[in-house]
Amino acid sequence: MKTLFRLFVVTAAALLSVSCANQQAAVRPGAALAQPAAPPIVRPLLLPLSPVKLAALHADEMGRIPILMYHAINGPSFHGRRYDANGLNIAPQTFRKQLCLMYAAHWYPVNMRDVLTSHIDVPAGKTPVVITFDDARGSQFHYLKNETIDPNCALGILEAFHKKHRDWPLRATFYILPKSAWNPAPFWQPGTETKKLRYLASEGFEIANHTTTHRLLGRLPASQLCWEMAECQRYVVDRVPGVVMDTMALPGGDAPKNRALWPYLLNGRLGTIIYHNRCILMAWGGPSRAWSDKKFDPDRVTRIGAGPGWIERALAQMSEGKIREYVSDGNPDTVAIPRSEAKEVNPKSLDGARLVIYDIRKPAKAKVLVAKDSAART
Ligand SMILES: [Zn+2]
Repeated sequence: MKTLFRLFVVTAAALLSVSCANQQAAVRPGAALAQPAAPPIVRPLLLPLSPVKLAALHADEMGRIPILMYHAINGPSFHGRRYDANGLNIAPQTFRKQLCLMYAAHWYPVNMRDVLTSHIDVPAGKTPVVITFDDARGSQFHYLKNETIDPNCALGILEAFHKKHRDWPLRATFYILPKSAWNPAPFWQPGTETKKLRYLASEGFEIANHTTTHRLLGRLPASQLCWEMAECQRYVVDRVPGVVMDTMALPGGDAPKNRALWPYLLNGRLGTIIYHNRCILMAWGGPSRAWSDKKFDPDRVTRIGAGPGWIERALAQMSEGKIREYVSDGNPDTVAIPRSEAKEVNPKSLDGARLVIYDIRKPAKAKVLVAKDSAART
């Protein structure tokens, strides 16, 4: 009986593992996959800041990280509405205002892949913010007739903001969608998509995977999940050789109902295309937990939508301390946290970073100094 059971298990596993065979190759979820190696970072090793300095900064590298979800900026009207209540299309001036608010709140833009580490590299006192754009919509990157970048598209707004604020780097993550029925080509100007993708990569933006067709993934079989991921990657890599795509965002926020199929979103192979994603972005859910947090789940990374007032509300809650925000100590080699959070750290996530725990000192009572002769004068 045991032998029969084993045979059943082996057969079932074999069937699952070759479920992509009719798509030319087997999927190997969870397999170790080769990726182009990042160039080594050469910089001096920094010593941790003193507890007094960490407390003064309110350093908290286990606090929440805002990952913002944008779709269209100044996009076309939909069902007679210029802008919508879910933030899928917002006005250029709304985006500009939000950037000003983020800057004022000491947020600092990084790409999505940059926060998937305990070595987050942002200046001391800053909070990393990830600005994500889904669907490769036309209003995210649009050329005018004279081939200059439209100042009212998302990229034009980001570049203008960067020119004005040089300490606000050009960073954002574009979740590309190659073949959706309502998406004639990424960024909606057929013939320019290769130029645009290369430009984004050369400027330091991240290009990432939003599947190939935007079909909801809830009930797709493994073979189609594999194709959706691999084909998107093939499309981009053919146009931007050497680009690394290693994060994905769920179309419509819809994950496979069968939890056992989620690994197919992370790792797989189709023919010569090998993909490896380090996290799955959801559509909503609020500020994300940090990588070093025990409860950080790479399969369910939450984002903040761009609906009217939503980003502003998160900004206010984090600035006022109602939501603990990630505050950097400025040292990518350390994870600095107040002692109260020590139990929440996942030690396996540190990857060589040094954990620095400090006590928040209560401010000493100010002594009232009275000059000796002041009493005499009264
Ligand atoms: Zn989408």
